[in-house]
Amino acid sequence: MLPRSNPRVVIAGGGLAGLACAKLLADAGLPVTVLESQANLGGRAGTFLDQDGEWVEQGLHLFAGAYAQFRALLRDIGRPPREVLFWTDDLRFEAKSGPSATFGINPVYAPLRTLLGALGNNDYLGPLAKLSLLPLLAPAALPEALLRRFDRLTVVDWWRRTSRSRQALERVLRPFCRAIQFTDAEQFSAYNLLGWAHQTLIRPLRARLGGYRGARDETIFAPLATYLQQRGVEIRTKVALDEIVYDEKTGKIAGFKLAGGELLEADVYVVALPAWVFAPKIPQPLRGRPFFADILDLPTAPAISVQLWFDRVVTRRDGFTMVAGSNCPVYQDHSRRTYPFAMGSRLSVIVSPADALMAWDEAAIVEHVLADLGAAHPQIAGAKVVKRVVLKHEHHLIRPLPGAMTRRPKQATPVENLFLAGDWTQQDFFGSQEGAVRGGNACARAIIEAVNRGVWT
Ligand SMILES: Cc1cc2nc3c(=O)[nH]c(=O)nc-3n(C[C@H](O)[C@H](O)[C@H](O)COP(=O)(O)OP(=O)(O)OC[C@H]3O[C@@H](n4cnc5c(N)ncnc54)[C@H](O)[C@@H]3O)c2cc1C
Repeated sequence: MLPRSNPRVVIAGGGLAGLACAKLLADAGLPVTVLESQANLGGRAGTFLDQDGEWVEQGLHLFAGAYAQFRALLRDIGRPPREVLFWTDDLRFEAKSGPSATFGINPVYAPLRTLLGALGNNDYLGPLAKLSLLPLLAPAALPEALLRRFDRLTVVDWWRRTSRSRQALERVLRPFCRAIQFTDAEQFSAYNLLGWAHQTLIRPLRARLGGYRGARDETIFAPLATYLQQRGVEIRTKVALDEIVYDEKTGKIAGFKLAGGELLEADVYVVALPAWVFAPKIPQPLRGRPFFADILDLPTAPAISVQLWFDRVVTRRDGFTMVAGSNCPVYQDHSRRTYPFAMGSRLSVIVSPADALMAWDEAAIVEHVLADLGAAHPQIAGAKVVKRVVLKHEHHLIRPLPGAMTRRPKQATPVENLFLAGDWTQQDFFGSQEGAVRGGNACARAIIEAVNRGVWT
């Protein structure tokens, strides 16, 4: 879709959503400027070099095979998914101080593992508990629009109406909720859980999990920045949006005021910041309008990312492991395929729900993680942690409380020249990398559609 005119667009936020939006607009020939407050692009999905010159990530990132728009973006910028990712066709579960199980997840790429995993692993998940998970298939096969009805219920409420299997809840659904949106099953909208099941079921061939080959800064964000700059996009890093200037007379945005005082004027303004950064910047006259009032009300959840370097090998798996009965619900060993580390294992662990641990000091958090993972890996007790990085994300994602998912705003706002992009705007992949790319793409399409309606001619 080529636009009829070419208004100047300024995008605040150089995360996946802002960059995906910039890409579609630049592809359509619009002049675009991206403002990013940090030195590195990529936001929450970003990586950065620490004081030792080692790549560190904002947090462990899993790439679901169903991430179609993110895969397309990678192909477009000349970084096909096979170069950026390695695929795994199984998922390991460990119960803290209990049994473990590995389930094949793709009937086409790993038919035997998928069949044997489903028939076996009975000490982890008994036959009745496995059968109790079948109802996940029915609502998950409904169209997206109908799934929204489940936004009234939490996962626990929905599960109580559907099944009596406590084992399936504790060993599969709860770790999944904690790992995927960093929120517990009692606070987790059933729409969100069923949405993930739906997206996987409608693309059975894509039921795979991708791990990254290397730092995303090098494998994705640097090539994406080059792609954008070659198409005339101006990228300004270490430049923060301070204020959104609203003109009450025209009912339009009049400029982005930057930290430092510069007033940047454009025709179209895109906010690709997290909702919690945008909320305090919503201009006063707009705050009472229902569209913006809903944004002020969106709940957020914290998460803690813990990265640990060991003096020896403590796990031998490159894939993802979910842990039941622990608030370290997911981890991955990065030492072989992501950030090669010859001495031993390098684990990336997510701590969630993190609310209670946010006030703990780093040493206590690391001790907690070692105790929880050590229950399944006795080698951890004898190993030495030679380096650790603990990143506390006070706001990580929109907490998927019932009602919050359907309250997410659309990308076009009631203000004609203000648009939103982000993993927290309406799209089918909730808070995720794919959600951010979809939010950015939907934002760009809304702008091009407005251009073609003649708004700026
Ligand atoms: C610890 C952790 C683990 C995760 N794990 C996964 C996973 O396994 N799989 C998955 O799919 N997703 C995962 N996610 C979610 C995923 O990273 C996000 O959904 C996605 O990156 C959000 O992209 P975004 O562009 O919407 O927002 P952001 O990435 O937050 O981008 C917003 C950008 O705006 C910038 N900014 C902020 N304030 C200003 C300002 N005033 N002016 C200018 N710029 C500003 C920020 O620096 C940032 O670059 C994880 C997130 C975290 C934090």
